[in-house]
Amino acid sequence: MEAPDFAKLITESAEILNEAIADRMVEVLNEAYRLDPECIAQLMDGPIVPCNAELADHSTIQIWDHLDLATLERLADQNPDGESKTAGVRVLGLLNGFTGKYPDGYGRIAASYEVDCPVHGSQDGIVGDICPACIARNPQKDDEDTVEDHELILGKLLGFARVDASKHQVSAQGPDSGNP
Ligand SMILES: [Zn+2]
Repeated sequence: MEAPDFAKLITESAEILNEAIADRMVEVLNEAYRLDPECIAQLMDGPIVPCNAELADHSTIQIWDHLDLATLERLADQNPDGESKTAGVRVLGLLNGFTGKYPDGYGRIAASYEVDCPVHGSQDGIVGDICPACIARNPQKDDEDTVEDHELILGKLLGFARVDASKHQVSAQGPDSGNP
């Protein structure tokens, strides 16, 4: 009889536990959001706080590693002779640190946001796309030629959701060795 693969069992158990904790965390986050959406949105949309390289390298906490140029310049001005910080953390990234990462690096807890056109409000689309309502407006009117199309931006927080595990599991299952 083949010995059980304890390392594999431990890894699988840890993943099951991470999934259960993430379910519970999303429940509680949505409870908090329902009770006071303004408060939770303020927390979630708070500033990205710059962090050092050690925190940026943490194995499960999700990091912003694409700080905008203005933030990078501000940090360099504040600390001209020190370590230059190029990454930052937000509340959601910290929360994701509790429940591990999928093999492709995604966390288990997501925040859902409305996607808005600055002129037309909530739209179906992805941030950075051109607003469908801007594209669809009547091109016959004379003054429409001077109206620019708007890119969709992140709107208000709508709540929290579990990241779909099936989309972020790297298929690491190789073929069985085939021993009889
Ligand atoms: Zn629009």
